[in-house]
Amino acid sequence: MKSLLIEWRHLDVEGDTCDRCYDTGENLTAEIKRLNRALNPQDIEVKFKETKLNESEISESNVILFNNIPLEELLDIEIHQSYCGSCSDLVGKDTYCRTIKYEGNDYEDVPAKAIREAAYKAMGLKPNASVQTSCCDSTSDCGCGSETTPKDFWHPVIDRETCTDCGICVAKCGNGVYDKSSPKKPVIVKPENCVDGCHGCGEQCPTGSITYTGDDTGWIPPHASKASGKEKNQDKEGALAMKKMFIYEPALCCETGVCGVSVDPELLRISTVANTLKKNGVTLQRYNLKNSPQEFVTNTEINKMLNSEGVDSLPATVVDGKIVKTKAYPTNGEIVMWLNISADYLVEKTDNSSSCCGPSSSSGSKKSCCC
Ligand code: SF4
Ligand code: SF4
Repeated sequence: MKSLLIEWRHLDVEGDTCDRCYDTGENLTAEIKRLNRALNPQDIEVKFKETKLNESEISESNVILFNNIPLEELLDIEIHQSYCGSCSDLVGKDTYCRTIKYEGNDYEDVPAKAIREAAYKAMGLKPNASVQTSCCDSTSDCGCGSETTPKDFWHPVIDRETCTDCGICVAKCGNGVYDKSSPKKPVIVKPENCVDGCHGCGEQCPTGSITYTGDDTGWIPPHASKASGKEKNQDKEGALAMKKMFIYEPALCCETGVCGVSVDPELLRISTVANTLKKNGVTLQRYNLKNSPQEFVTNTEINKMLNSEGVDSLPATVVDGKIVKTKAYPTNGEIVMWLNISADYLVEKTDNSSSCCGPSSSSGSKKSCCC
């Protein structure tokens, strides 16, 4: 496995640092998690080294090196200096420290996007080599179709079919991810500002219309049942007309891929979800190359994709005959959204399902039951 060492040098005065360095540290922490998630599948491990500087070394403070190459040598940025009140307080005298000009904007901290871009560059990866051209499908209005968006980069994706343009998500986010000049209809303008692991807007969305790219936490939109509303999916006779999901996987050791000593947690999750859905009458069919090679030939879309992109595009998810995701398993939120089902379907029905403690009140909520 190749490795990328990101070294961050910053002022440290008895365990304290300045506001600029603090913000850079936050950006680095989130970004290194994202980078590892995106680059580990490409056999690249991202390591982190923190070097604390004393007052005499302050000119070096807030410098980031990528395999010993400074950020400013990797990217087209300008380094400036400005008065830093926070450093001045820490060292007890007027102090000037680094700022950067990046993509036409001045920053006191080092923004996450610059860290990510430099990391890719340091590894000799072309922006397009490790990204997908768009992580959005035609129903989303995510705005992240930028060719520089890493595949697994955490940010919200809006399902435009269910979004009611209430604007709650826009108001909720304080990180500039959404365009505040569009207070009702959510328009994502800075996906790179989204905080890794944050479900803030998704938790508030009353229609469960928000999921997150790269979300492998098992989180599901809390109000998804209102969004998908089983009634919306009913045919004229009132019977449920659910969609079906097919996952085409690389060759696995067995049908589920969860045998052996070290089990991939993603395979375990998807296996559990598929079993639970089956028990609840929903189809999530898995095919793996070793056990069901014919299925990869007979599905024209999958066949075409394998011919053009090879097996690295697996696992691939197909809903209603359309490939909706490649190179990773669907998250629980995506499964709920794409199958247009209530989140309750991911919870196994129990014998007491007819009581008030049925699926809807046992759907993973930590709140105690009413009976
Ligand atoms: S997940 Fe958090 S940071 Fe990201 S857009 Fe939503 S509220 Fe903002
Ligand atoms: S909170 Fe949900 S329904 Fe409201 S605008 Fe945002 S995505 Fe749409």
